[in-house]
Amino acid sequence: MKTSLIGYPRVGSLRELKFASEKYFKNEITIDELHRTGADLRANHWRRQQENGIDFIPSNDFSFYDGLLDTACLFNIIPDRYQALELNPLETYFALARGYQGAQGDVKALAMKKWFNTNYHYMVPEVDDSTTIRLAGTKLFDEFLEAKQHNITTKPVLIGAFTLLKLAKYTGVKQADDFVHETAEAYAAVLKRLSELGAEWVQLDEPKLVTDLSKDDLVLFSKLYSRILSSKGNVKVLVQTYFGDVRDCYQELQTLPFDGIGIDFVEGKQSLELVRQHGFSDDKVLFAGVINGKNIWRNKYKNTLALLQELNGQAKQLVISSSCSLLHVPYSLQHETTLSDENKRYFAFAEEKLREFAEIKAILAHANPNSTELYIQNEKLFDGTRFEGNETVQARTVTLTDADFTRLPAFAEREAIQNAKFKLPALPTTTIGSFPQTADVRANRFAFKKGDITEEQYKQFNFDKIAESIALQEEIGLDVLVHGEYERNDMVEYFGESLDGFIFTKNAWVQSYGTRCVKPPIVWGDISRSRPMTVEYSAYAKSLTNKPVKGMLTGPVTILNWSFPREDISLKDSALQIALAIRDEVLDLEANHIEIIQIDEAALREKLPLRQSDWQSEYLSWAIPAFRLVHSGVQADTQIHTHMCYSQFSDIIRDIDAMDADVITFEASRSDLAIIDAINACGFQTEVGPGVYDIHSPRIPSVDELKQGLLRMLDKIDVAKLWVNPDCGLKTRGVTETWESLRHLVQAAKEIRATL
Ligand code: GLN
Ligand code: ZN
Repeated sequence: MKTSLIGYPRVGSLRELKFASEKYFKNEITIDELHRTGADLRANHWRRQQENGIDFIPSNDFSFYDGLLDTACLFNIIPDRYQALELNPLETYFALARGYQGAQGDVKALAMKKWFNTNYHYMVPEVDDSTTIRLAGTKLFDEFLEAKQHNITTKPVLIGAFTLLKLAKYTGVKQADDFVHETAEAYAAVLKRLSELGAEWVQLDEPKLVTDLSKDDLVLFSKLYSRILSSKGNVKVLVQTYFGDVRDCYQELQTLPFDGIGIDFVEGKQSLELVRQHGFSDDKVLFAGVINGKNIWRNKYKNTLALLQELNGQAKQLVISSSCSLLHVPYSLQHETTLSDENKRYFAFAEEKLREFAEIKAILAHANPNSTELYIQNEKLFDGTRFEGNETVQARTVTLTDADFTRLPAFAEREAIQNAKFKLPALPTTTIGSFPQTADVRANRFAFKKGDITEEQYKQFNFDKIAESIALQEEIGLDVLVHGEYERNDMVEYFGESLDGFIFTKNAWVQSYGTRCVKPPIVWGDISRSRPMTVEYSAYAKSLTNKPVKGMLTGPVTILNWSFPREDISLKDSALQIALAIRDEVLDLEANHIEIIQIDEAALREKLPLRQSDWQSEYLSWAIPAFRLVHSGVQADTQIHTHMCYSQFSDIIRDIDAMDADVITFEASRSDLAIIDAINACGFQTEVGPGVYDIHSPRIPSVDELKQGLLRMLDKIDVAKLWVNPDCGLKTRGVTETWESLRHLVQAAKEIRATL
């Protein structure tokens, strides 16, 4: 049986591409040096795949920023404002990705969005009425030829026409349908060229096919591919799906003249059933996604072999594939010097997954697979328990009752009690938690981690910072203060480190977007809290002021969504364990006179299933209760806030309200305030703080501008429910702009208050 990879990570095992790109952006290296880094990485990745006997090795999975942006550029989808800069192709590309400010002009970057149900983000192609979609670039062909020079005939990969047209944004009157003809021609031209160059296969990625499809979508898909496939020459076309199953278009896939269909048997809940029920066309190759492209755990060969054996009976030609691109997993265990061997036995990052391909292939080539040493070794990994169980935690989760998820008294009664207690002015002002993480803050943390300063010195620095920021917040006149989050630089690592049950890697970076990578902690055991995590800092801040100080925590769903979860227990069970640990912290804060506590759920939406029919049953039905479990134990006069980093929740607005927080703050300054209408329409009970200015930009908003924003919100939102705050935390902002903006924010609130 042959093996195929959908894509390989691209930033380099030590993030070489990130560092080279950032140097290039700062003019520290030349464009040629950047290209050389890219070429070295590609060569290295191809070689590793070749060493592991991968038969279908992808090319063009490499990208300097994002694969969908590469596809847009290949097809000339570059809005005029970027063309007008008259930069060279790579600089134009970076202008689309990051914006451009310089001698040639001033343009913002394209919009960026989450790539399906991952934490990877793609650049949204922008199609104008004047756009002509045509084959204009060469990257795809160049990388195919480059691999050939290394004596490897790759399978070039490209985002498919349907996904491209569905994910693009249309700025004029023309819509996807109006571009069908030219798009199909452009893809046909790609196939022709690849055929001339001697490519045997091309992979067209169509992840959009695993989402809910309408009749119109199916028509669009069929129209595109009838044309594209009608003149494919000698090159064989693999339509590659991932992140779910293709229940809405299985028949179309079988009927259209594709040569191969890539189906995800890991995340595709109905994939196997679809093949069983409808069979698989004899003239097509089934690329079976059986090696998980998203998790970091070893593959269980017993299950994979059973699945492959069944599929072998259904499809005449079968290829072993990953479930999706390995882009979503870290590179290699090779650089993990601090993980124990016992831990490492269970992990498979990208390189180790390549070895799994080779091993499965070898096992299958054997007359009696189950008797092979490789198989037996793998079986051993899975017997016995590998995870550190904690009986107390398990007992706590199983004895939970409805009461544990219900905060009493109900919202309206609490609201009255809290109003009477806090006596905040109308339009209370606050911030989202963090203040600028200036160089001294980072240097302090770094010095402590390296052992250059004592814990006492480290803490004292943070205490001084807190004192400084409390004084400033008081001086500016904010109503609800925060301590500033100087003890941490992100939302998960700090809590993961303070909780039992997580382990950490040194280099397990995963690309989030462009040059940004994240290093998610790994859930290794049952999660519990052995000691308070934030009480000391919050209590210190509170001791300095008579104003309320908000405690600041990350919620269970966000912690889980930004970690690599266990697979032996459900996400729900892991979320409940984390919720109980955070609940302990909430109650400790309350006992230490912290009367307002914010529990951030920045990533609540991240793992929302791709199909709407699964939203409740697979996700919201436990994610929302997990949040409620965190705060249901507090007194009526303790005020619970939550925060989300986006305003995209009109479609789950009732679920957000059902989190039963007292106040929610969220991003709103960059959106069209549609969320405000939705809040207005559904009778949202939670008080709201839609961000009044964008913290992603160093701009200082004027008092007038902020007042206008607030007045627009007041049109729709009852004044008794409205809070005034920025969009998100201020950790990435400079000091001057931060305090100046907040001064304006308080001033705007005061001026409007005076007119009420
Ligand atoms: N409290 C966090 C902060 O202010 C929230 C960050 C976030 O929403 N991403 O930094
Ligand atoms: Zn945020």
